[in-house]
Amino acid sequence: MKRREILKTLTMLPLAGAIGNSGSLVQSAQAAPSSKRDLFKEFGLRTFINASGYFTSLSGSLMQHDAADAIRETATSFCRLEEVQDKVGERIASLLHAESAMVTAGAFSALMLGMAGVLSGTDQKKVSQIPRLEGSAMKTEVILQKAHNDGYAHALTNCGVKLITVETVEELEKAISDRTAMMYFINYQSSLGKIQHKEWLELARKHRIPTMIDMAADLPPKENLWKFHDMGFDLVCVSGGKFMRGPQSTGILSGKKELIAAARMSAPPRGSNIGRGMKVNKEEIFGLYIALEHFINTDQEKEWKMLEDRIAVIAKEAASVPGVKAELIPLPLINRIPTLNISWDKSKIRLENLAVNLRNGNPSIEVMGGPAGSINVTSHMLKKDEVKIVASRIREELFKAHV
Ligand SMILES: *Cc1c(COP(=O)(O)O)cnc(C)c1O
Repeated sequence: MKRREILKTLTMLPLAGAIGNSGSLVQSAQAAPSSKRDLFKEFGLRTFINASGYFTSLSGSLMQHDAADAIRETATSFCRLEEVQDKVGERIASLLHAESAMVTAGAFSALMLGMAGVLSGTDQKKVSQIPRLEGSAMKTEVILQKAHNDGYAHALTNCGVKLITVETVEELEKAISDRTAMMYFINYQSSLGKIQHKEWLELARKHRIPTMIDMAADLPPKENLWKFHDMGFDLVCVSGGKFMRGPQSTGILSGKKELIAAARMSAPPRGSNIGRGMKVNKEEIFGLYIALEHFINTDQEKEWKMLEDRIAVIAKEAASVPGVKAELIPLPLINRIPTLNISWDKSKIRLENLAVNLRNGNPSIEVMGGPAGSINVTSHMLKKDEVKIVASRIREELFKAHV
């Protein structure tokens, strides 16, 4: 399923109105040790086991402990925000094989600030004119492949540019003009487009047009963090709060030194610009940095095996009910993680909506809706002790519905 379809399915599932039993089995691992208050309970919010994935509507991913510690520890002193961006940005850039980097308020913000930087350069007047490009002497168009025109490109049009979609190299060459500000590429849609990364870059280089790639959710593998810089993309955008498990409200914009410097002209602490509302403070910058460092140092083969082992536990339990099929789905480019599809013989198992039953059960469990009423389950957002709970709850629901 495409990410957008997954999101649609998520929002289509009716919300459980139930309050109470809040997080009986789910400990809030990040709660400050000094705090005795259970805010979820206090506000009547039901927490859940996340067998679905890192979705914004489900509050993203759980931050790595080290990242949360960094936030708490850096929250108690002041320092100059520009200096934090300078110094942490420099370190991030070296990890990512980039000339320069900045921490943004999510990948969406990276797209938007990167676009603003491409348009304005370091000209303060132009910075303050975005998104009113008419009569500003700024370029006004971004070229992308038709298949790459997903909802996130809205970040670019926020800066006032017009999206020009093309399908073939001939169309691309024809579309390029002195209005072309940038050529934009979305990694996870690459298999749907006719032009691949290298050719896209060659064409951009030939016409001296800056390039940007959105790879927001395309981790693992961690090598993707530097792959696109090594290839030659001028700007790379990634989320900090997805598989990396940094603060959910962070992202990274990395790339050419002059373009990052230009993007920062549209970012806080500066005002009179389009990005003033996309603030990340020092704590989040440090939190993201620690999460990134940790993510890069993780043994990803070992982690992958753990994710597969967990999926195997759930698959085995589900498939122990006659008429149930539990199979790994092929890996997409985005959210590239082991995902189990659980489907059943509708004549043997009468189950209206397994996803909703799991959500309304105790503990509440979130899964993704799969094709034809089936469910998709992932294991990367589960805590260790939750794997068995998910497995047995799924089995219980399927078993109960067996006729
Ligand atoms: C999630 C996502 C974004 C937005 O990322 P945030 O970090 O939530 O701002 C942009 N593009 C793609 C392809 C994504 O999957």
